[in-house]
Amino acid sequence: MSRILVVEDSLDIAEGLQRSLEHDGYQVSLATKAAHALAVATSDKPELIVLDLGLPDRDGYTVLQELRERGVQIPVLILSARHEEADKLQGFRLGADDYVTKPFSILELMARISALLRRVQPAAAPAPAPSASGAPAEAPKPAALSDEALRERYGLTARQTEVVRLLAEGCSNAEIATRLEMSYYTARNHTEQVLGKLGVSSRAAVGALLYGQG
Ligand code: CA
Repeated sequence: MSRILVVEDSLDIAEGLQRSLEHDGYQVSLATKAAHALAVATSDKPELIVLDLGLPDRDGYTVLQELRERGVQIPVLILSARHEEADKLQGFRLGADDYVTKPFSILELMARISALLRRVQPAAAPAPAPSASGAPAEAPKPAALSDEALRERYGLTARQTEVVRLLAEGCSNAEIATRLEMSYYTARNHTEQVLGKLGVSSRAAVGALLYGQG
């Protein structure tokens, strides 16, 4: 069962989200302040964080930044009323994995959360054995777009193609940095450039683009 940390100071939104997530079988912790969020993210080790930007003590961006600087690679979905492109880009620059603007559709949010978790969990753990009751284990889908196609169609460099593959696996900037032996900041810049060249607004959209699930 996946644990999700919801960082949100509006109790209406936080509790509504908690109910929906618990209904779908997630364990939910709530934090209403940035300081609390950092403490819970460290102690509870959630699999995903839903992060509001407008918090009473500190900006949500600082939570994200501090987590990434500490090497915490948990996927972060920003949920914010700030809908300017600059806000979204700032979020992705700091290592966010997805960005949803308020007012939001709860169904879309749940779908994005589930997609993010699907993309990160196979990379984090060996493939689970098929269980007697559960759905059959999902085989990795073959790449629908070849490296050549990525380079020709989107003008990616060879290095950026590697970054795209890792993004499609659900890797965070920190994981990309480790896998490609580059600095966190270089990985972050590559990610930003790749998202721009692919013309997608979120990391989650990269897998969909590559494998034609969009
Ligand atoms: Ca808020």
